[in-house]
Amino acid sequence: CGIVGYVGRSVNGAVDGHSALDVVLEGLRRLEYRGYDSAGVAVVSEGAIEARKKSGKLSNLLAELEERPLPETLTGIGHTRWATHGGPTDRNAHPHLADEGRLAVIHNGIIENFAELKLELIDKGVKFLSETDTEVAAALLADIFRNQLGGDVSNGGLTRAMELACQRLEGAFTLLAVHADQPDVVVAARRNSPLVVGLGEGENFLGSDVSGFIDYTRRAVELGQDQIVTITADTVEITDFFGNPAAGKEYHVDWDP
Ligand code: GLU
Repeated sequence: CGIVGYVGRSVNGAVDGHSALDVVLEGLRRLEYRGYDSAGVAVVSEGAIEARKKSGKLSNLLAELEERPLPETLTGIGHTRWATHGGPTDRNAHPHLADEGRLAVIHNGIIENFAELKLELIDKGVKFLSETDTEVAAALLADIFRNQLGGDVSNGGLTRAMELACQRLEGAFTLLAVHADQPDVVVAARRNSPLVVGLGEGENFLGSDVSGFIDYTRRAVELGQDQIVTITADTVEITDFFGNPAAGKEYHVDWDP
């Protein structure tokens, strides 16, 4: 339902600006108006992913974060869910993890061919923890790392895996992924579902709409159909699902929330 992603500035690897978790939670608050039944976040810290997710209101997630805090990091993603596949439980809330907990994925929309992909992955020995279509996308990315990219996620592997995954996914999706082996990157893809990039200075944002980052920047880039964007603190690279360079449409956001 609502999606936020963030990569921030670092000095010698330490947070020098906003903490990813703060930005992501602020974005989720702004996106609450869309309605949702669960919320979750993931941050990438020292080569590991940590996620928290809860059914119910954002206040439930905040209570969970009080009890089990997350560290300040440069990179984070957040989601508010409107359940379509699997009930609104903690377990079905996003992010969904794969690749032994080193990959986290959030998703808006519906992956129409998730059932056949799921059977194919179960045949390969993948164990699923939720009933969501989203977890299938996460497991597919992990399978692509292992079987098509030789296990190497560093150096553009996450973007490449997203391209290969999107070539197989049908339906409507905005997907965001982070991986512990590429801690300063968020990769996102869209088909039949909206995605906007927010351009900052030494930081970049992703949102299902501009309210996800309106408190931080007014410079937005709308992605086109079937595009993938890879953001770091300083770069925004857009391609199609086959790795060909593509361009989004930059505009200024002039309404006030
Ligand atoms: N189909 C996904 C799910 O049920 C995503 C729903 C959404 O757009 O929030 O988890």
